[in-house]
Amino acid sequence: VSVQAQCTFVSITNIVAFFPPRTPGFPRSRWLGDRDIVVECARAARSRGIRVLGRLSIDTALTSLAADHPDWFRRRADGQIAIAKTLAAPPNGPDPSSSVDYGRTCQFSSYYSDHIRDLIDEVMLRYRIDGIYASGWPNANVPQCYCDACRRIGEPTSETYRLAYQSRAFKLWDLYARTVSARNVGAVFSGNLGGGIEGGVLDFKALADRAIWMFADNQGRHERYTPSWDASQQARVGRALTDGKRPSVVSTGASSFIGADFWRSVTANPAEMRGRMFHTSAAGGAIHLHWLGFERGFEEDRRWQAIGRDVLAWQARHDPHFRNVRSLAKVAVVVSPLNNRAYRTPAGTDAMDALQGMYKVLVEARIPFDFVLDAHLSEEVLGRYGVLVLPNIALMSDATAGALKAYAKGGGSILATFETGVYDEAGKERSEFALADVFDMRKTASREGYGYVASDGTSVSGAVSMQRIEQSHPIVSGFHDTNWIAGSSWRIPIMAPESRSSRTSRNIRSARSRPCSATGCIPRCPRSWPAKAGPGASSTSPRTLMPPIGGTARPTWAIF
Ligand SMILES: [Zn+2]
Repeated sequence: VSVQAQCTFVSITNIVAFFPPRTPGFPRSRWLGDRDIVVECARAARSRGIRVLGRLSIDTALTSLAADHPDWFRRRADGQIAIAKTLAAPPNGPDPSSSVDYGRTCQFSSYYSDHIRDLIDEVMLRYRIDGIYASGWPNANVPQCYCDACRRIGEPTSETYRLAYQSRAFKLWDLYARTVSARNVGAVFSGNLGGGIEGGVLDFKALADRAIWMFADNQGRHERYTPSWDASQQARVGRALTDGKRPSVVSTGASSFIGADFWRSVTANPAEMRGRMFHTSAAGGAIHLHWLGFERGFEEDRRWQAIGRDVLAWQARHDPHFRNVRSLAKVAVVVSPLNNRAYRTPAGTDAMDALQGMYKVLVEARIPFDFVLDAHLSEEVLGRYGVLVLPNIALMSDATAGALKAYAKGGGSILATFETGVYDEAGKERSEFALADVFDMRKTASREGYGYVASDGTSVSGAVSMQRIEQSHPIVSGFHDTNWIAGSSWRIPIMAPESRSSRTSRNIRSARSRPCSATGCIPRCPRSWPAKAGPGASSTSPRTLMPPIGGTARPTWAIF
């Protein structure tokens, strides 16, 4: 009540039930006694005008159930039950992350299609709550299971299995949604759609289309060097997946994280906690403040409550300003989950580097921007933006390239970096950039590395590249008192035909090719240096795309 929450989650199960279940075979908490925690919490929330969603964990179950239902559990290749390894260790106790008491369940078993459906039906019938939230399911990535049912489908790393997993997840989602609404019209079902910006192998767009909201579990910065805007990124992903038409809820945690280590019952740095919640709101998301009362976590550490009251009460006071809004951003960054997972990056780099770098540039320049998905570049979506940023979207289908070409032809501006469009969606290298015509350039070789790690993966000392500013141009206008700037470690040799050199730039779109002309490269820059160098040295107008040299096509380089 003090945080003016509109909705709260009440755990109906967490491996064991927090109410006396009638569904056969579902164990109840041994600490429950005669109480029914679900009904007590639901009544308390409702009497205060707060909606209630029942939270359940369906991805994990007590392995003792395997005696009667061996088929319910996910199996390792050796046939053993896949053990859950994410449970927090109690003080001075054995490490339950190695406990055989808790196993992962298999989505292809009747545990999901019958047992959980029956449990949801029972809960909805008894408590008439506003919906159900499934934690830990369906996951962005496909778990590997070697149970009998899964062996019949195929190798869990295969595309056949991925498609089967995805199809089954869609069916189960629909089944649970029907079960919920059959008992309470208007009630909602929601799974956990948190996958971060990196995405997974499931088609989250298809899942989000089924969802009343895009609920993403993103409690804290799991990686040691994850940027502080991690939560707002998730909100942007959610808005992209739902096309901004439904709420994007980000479960931002109050727990303390330092990389892979996290203390789920200890409050985080207050600045971190406040930042994650405010960032979520600022990016168009809805805040779900997450606190997990492991052990006696609700009682021992209460610092998170005051921080939550402060931020959520502020949000409540200003809530009308967050409703019925639309993005005014004219810049969109293209995000490709396929590229993020399937792009074979140059040695020493990560698929996310280019995206995170561009994100940082835009955030720090205070340029409003949205995410758009590469697989959903419809005319309607693209029509909202004047500029598209493609941060090394290396894998690109012909369909995506076609949409981008049409966008550019219609006057849209595109900024693309490095290997954008060099590979098709299967990862096969193209002989030419998919957007070669848009950029007026031709690829003359595959990527080359001159940095610490060379093209063949070996270390090369002292061979970092530099770039020389040879001509004034808006793109290098921020550099003063230098002719040299740090160059890239990896690049693609390109050809920019002279015949295009006299074209003048009318808009940002033409700036796509300018880097080649405004800078030379060291080492191996094929261009001779002019007598005078530096911004302003050339007599060429800043509006001129290419320097007026020679009469033949000449090789040059892309700096991105
Ligand atoms: Zn299985």
